[in-house]
Amino acid sequence: MSLAEFSLIERIRTRTHARADVLLGIGDDAALLQPRAGEQLVVTADTLNSGVHFPAETAPYDIGWKTLAVNLSDLASMGARPAWCTLALSLPDAQTDWIDAFADGFFALADEHGIVLVGGDTTRGPLSLSVTAMGQLVPGTALRRDAARVDDEVWVSGTLGDAAIALRAWQGGTLDVRGVADDAQVDYLRLRLARPTPRVALGRALVGVAHAAVDVSDGLLADLGHICERSGVGARIDPKRLPVSAAARARVGITQAREAALRGGDDYELCFTAAPSQRPAIEALSARLSLPLTRIGTIIPGSGIAHGSDDDAPRGYEHFNEL
Ligand code: ADP
Ligand code: MG
Repeated sequence: MSLAEFSLIERIRTRTHARADVLLGIGDDAALLQPRAGEQLVVTADTLNSGVHFPAETAPYDIGWKTLAVNLSDLASMGARPAWCTLALSLPDAQTDWIDAFADGFFALADEHGIVLVGGDTTRGPLSLSVTAMGQLVPGTALRRDAARVDDEVWVSGTLGDAAIALRAWQGGTLDVRGVADDAQVDYLRLRLARPTPRVALGRALVGVAHAAVDVSDGLLADLGHICERSGVGARIDPKRLPVSAAARARVGITQAREAALRGGDDYELCFTAAPSQRPAIEALSARLSLPLTRIGTIIPGSGIAHGSDDDAPRGYEHFNEL
């Protein structure tokens, strides 16, 4: 370990907080953690590579935020309580300004959710960030992809398609991912891409309410498709019910906004299925969390996802990539 590496790690270590169940954190060969007696560990890992998972010019604060957010989103979709994480950093050079801004974003989100960084690795190489996040839950309560049942209702949180529309605008040169946009709606879309909100409180609250859940990282059709495959069921969704933001509608119009909601990724909302009898509980939850929860369809026998071709569904469902 070089001196530069040591001081980088030290800059990160000083940002972490104590947690009673972290017996030994950053500084030894490995961390010592004390899981709660009788609970299950929930473990997930996600890597973000510069130029692949985020535009290379993305602000370091936003990279720090998103690196943790995508992992917290995976814990949320399982219904887990976040506890600990590790961070593997590959950096082209050891710039302290960059590390400090990265840490500002990373720890803003970590502290909000009480997840503590307990270790990691720091190497020189192309910019790449990899987090392993760990959470806990009571045995048997995880929100699994294979737990959807026929006649369940399909729900999604928040709005869908915003991040894909922002990404497309950035690729088209009409949105600057780095800076605050003058237009409030454009800035809303930018932040949906740069600083997604992992739905941790929702995931926790859905334990005992929802059957199956998944976070929408690859697009609703793809991710709900995972639930259907794993559960051995199909789904019918009504594109007219898809929750799209005012900003998305203003930017690309309602038809393309729905198309983005169906196929666009990177929103990190939760898609979940629940028995129809849970509708009042889910509506109460939506009010308590001040988070829209929208019923978009139903789990049906068979396989695949039916969408849009019936009745007066809007026409023009060309692939979003052809926008
Ligand atoms: P080793 O060579 O034994 O793997 P390192 O020199 O890589 O140890 O790391 C020293 C300590 O700093 C370890 O506790 C490790 O977990 C921690 N660490 C290294 N890089 C990071 C990082 N990017 N974030 C958090 N902790 C880190
Ligand atoms: Mg090491």
